[in-house]
Amino acid sequence: MGVQLPDLQFTSLEAIPAVISTTRKSFLEHKTRDVEFRLVQLRKLYWAIKDHEEEIVEACAQDLNKPRFETEVAESGWLLNDIVFTTRNLHKWVKDEKAPDIELSFKFMSPKIRKDPLGCVLVIGAFNFPFQLTMGPVIGAIAAGNTVVIKPSENAPRSAAVMQKICEASLDPSCYSVVQGGVPETQALLAERWDKIFFTGGASVGRIIAKAAAPHLTPVVLELGGINPAIITKNADPRLVARRMLWGKILNAGQVCTSQNYLLVDKSLVSKVVEEFKKAYAEFYPQGAKDSPDYSRIINDTHFQRLKSMLDNTKGKIVLGGSMDAKELFIEPTVVLVDSVEDSLCTQESFGPFIPILPVENLDEAINLANGVQNTPLGLYPFGSKADVAKIISSTRSGGVSCNDSALHIPTLPFGGVGESGYGAYRGRSSFDVWVHRRPITSSPSWLESLLAIRYPPYAGKLSKF
Ligand code: NAD
Repeated sequence: MGVQLPDLQFTSLEAIPAVISTTRKSFLEHKTRDVEFRLVQLRKLYWAIKDHEEEIVEACAQDLNKPRFETEVAESGWLLNDIVFTTRNLHKWVKDEKAPDIELSFKFMSPKIRKDPLGCVLVIGAFNFPFQLTMGPVIGAIAAGNTVVIKPSENAPRSAAVMQKICEASLDPSCYSVVQGGVPETQALLAERWDKIFFTGGASVGRIIAKAAAPHLTPVVLELGGINPAIITKNADPRLVARRMLWGKILNAGQVCTSQNYLLVDKSLVSKVVEEFKKAYAEFYPQGAKDSPDYSRIINDTHFQRLKSMLDNTKGKIVLGGSMDAKELFIEPTVVLVDSVEDSLCTQESFGPFIPILPVENLDEAINLANGVQNTPLGLYPFGSKADVAKIISSTRSGGVSCNDSALHIPTLPFGGVGESGYGAYRGRSSFDVWVHRRPITSSPSWLESLLAIRYPPYAGKLSKF
């Protein structure tokens, strides 16, 4: 404690159109076209994050009981690294590209591809990694030269307020603004015209965003969730499976879009895997997760009740954990042996610390079941021999794959879903690419006129010359 946090104040609905028109006007005045201007913004943002690191830790602690370690690694530290990576590479990324695959006859037109900013864009963040998932896309949008309106998740109110403070302390207010609010404020934002909308959240709100964008033909990036399977073949190492799968579900108390939702485990390995889960849990939390400083809480009562009802309705057998405390929004990491993918723990994304295990006869059954639950999840987690893993990857679809792991995503690899888990990708260089229009430019010199004259009528006899 000891760190004073600002209060979250929602932006008035009446003020929203003016915020957008200021931000759009700045774009139309070309304020953000200058690459040096963008770099200055990013450097100021870097130092503002540094200056507010303790507030970030405290805000994440109050919103999610997020441990300092997780906040410093996956929130402030993540963003700082992202800014360093972006500022180091930006001059390279903004350069015009030589157009590929050009025939000799067109080379005289000096074809190239410019990277133009899209315009005035909207970023809508999620609550679970409130800083990383809101400011991450913003870093790319600034780098690419857009003006940005930022809408943090109201479900992580302390983090939202600190984010606003950081943005106001560092970014040019005529180009970058934070709008605070819940559903009505988001709807007011969505009623306006944007040049791109970047949304991180669930598929049902994702559909609302895409519908709102359609009348303006606004492109959208949807970073959604998924019912992510882990497939554990008979060749897997049970200890590795348990430690890594448990990590995927204790990180942020399982409120991680990439963590596995259920495990399909070769029946010969099930009892060993369960034993290893027990050992790993005792090692990670010798005093139990509830009394540990290293375990988050569920974001709010709505999500707590949703998770509680998933567990209440399971027909499976709890083999580890299972305790809950509504007052503290605590849910223990819980391993459940289920007997069907129709179980309440498998049919929807839990976004919580549940680890349902379904025993399977063999790898083919596992692949069939995984493809039946949701054939386009965000992540897929195969454990087994190289041949097993190769078979799993080539018989499934997913946003990404982490072999022999859970939730892991290297920060500079493109990150995004497919099908039900969304579309568009960012991170690393993709965070720049996702925010630019690749504008092809050609220039026809006057001395080419005698050659170009072939395109003018009358056409008679000209076709044979092509
Ligand atoms: P959510 O979809 O419930 O809400 C996101 C935001 O949408 C809210 O903060 C709110 O401002 C807005 N919203 C809600 N209802 C709305 C409506 N009717 N009209 C307009 N706006 C509305 O998501 P969440 O609870 O913040 O996050 C959980 C989901 O997000 C999970 O499915 C998770 O997998 C997914 N997620 C995905 C990623 C990713 O990078 N792919 C990352 C984190 C979370």
